Amino acid sequence: MERRKVGILGATGMVGQRFIQLLSNHPWFEIAWLAASDRSAGKTFDEACRWKLDTPLPSAIAAMTVQPNVPEGCTGELPKIIFAALDADIARELEPKFAAAGCAVISNSSAFRMTKDVPLVVPEVNVDHLALIGAQSSRKENGGRGGYIVTNPNCCAIGLVMALKPLEERFGIESLFVATMQAVSGAGYPGVASLDILGNVVPFIKNEEEKLQEEVGKLLGRVDGNGIEMLDAKVSAHCNRVAVEDGHTECVSIKFKKRATQEEVLAAWSEFAPLRGQHLPTAPDQPVEYDASVDRPQPRLDKMRGNGMAATVGRLRPCSLLDWKFVVLSHNTIRGAAGAAVLNAEVLARMGKFDKLGVPSDTVATKADSRHQRAVTV
Ligand code: NAP
Repeated sequence: MERRKVGILGATGMVGQRFIQLLSNHPWFEIAWLAASDRSAGKTFDEACRWKLDTPLPSAIAAMTVQPNVPEGCTGELPKIIFAALDADIARELEPKFAAAGCAVISNSSAFRMTKDVPLVVPEVNVDHLALIGAQSSRKENGGRGGYIVTNPNCCAIGLVMALKPLEERFGIESLFVATMQAVSGAGYPGVASLDILGNVVPFIKNEEEKLQEEVGKLLGRVDGNGIEMLDAKVSAHCNRVAVEDGHTECVSIKFKKRATQEEVLAAWSEFAPLRGQHLPTAPDQPVEYDASVDRPQPRLDKMRGNGMAATVGRLRPCSLLDWKFVVLSHNTIRGAAGAAVLNAEVLARMGKFDKLGVPSDTVATKADSRHQRAVTV
């Protein structure tokens, strides 16, 4: 199968580098275009980027020239699939330009996550929310060329909703308390100053608690016309930065609408395999792994489960305030960012959502809708 050409916007950053690592040998996608800020444009990628990952920078990528960050600045043909890893303010300005140019923008930023007709998706949790693409790509300001934006959640929300989805399905969630311990790589590069974080905990991450609370509501909500009806549950989050390199750990207390035994909660997690059989290259076999050891999960030991794409859960025990409490861990730049976006792209490819990019939307709307119905029920 010929690989589809893709671009990476924000390619030099922490998440951009993960995209390069995950896409360099991807069976379906081929990196054909890289862009970052004006500071990097025109340089070779090797000159522009401080490579921070523990696998070597592929030589073919190192030699690529960083392109201007606008669609019309592309020398050669602009790829129609753009992975975006930009700060929210920059994403708000740039991502719509690529959607208007007929691209599928698969975004990591918070800029459009809560926009009514923009899907906020974790494939194991709410793939049916991709139905919103239809309404969005026919929006006038989107250029009418079939482009759209699909987002993945905040890095903490992803691991959390993976653990919550099977519980919500079986028992219903009434209320939830979560306290996070978030790795420094979650703040990008250079991120938090070493003198602020070494031997320390910082009990504040700007806007993070608000994002986590509202994104859980949208992710576990249901499609209602051209928008999402939010989950009707109370969610309270405390977010903390800790001196860990990669891997966000979250302590959760939860109250259900229906009574659940420990065995039933464990069965909900172990039987949760919504993508099994779909052969998506980045999907983990077991999205939620329970570790029964008394002192797991731990970021150093468990962040790479499922190639960094699984959420590891542990320490399930009764909660004296709510019903149950547990700990969940996920890799913040793989499952929580670039890996999540790559998995979204694999699902979109499977659903045929890349086939009509760049083509005026009104000529393809009917076919796209029927294809969507087919893929969601696979
Ligand atoms: P980062 O390390 O600070 O990287 C930022 C990237 O944006 C760099 O490639 C930078 O390029 C580029 N950039 C800056 N100004 C630009 C401009 N005006 N036009 C185009 N590109 C520009 O940040 P990050 O951690 O990768 O995060 C990127 C996004 O992902 C953020 O929205 C973040 O919230 C989200 N996210 C991050 C994580 C995580 O764990 N790190 C997880 C989930 C979501 P230069 O090198 O040229 O400056």
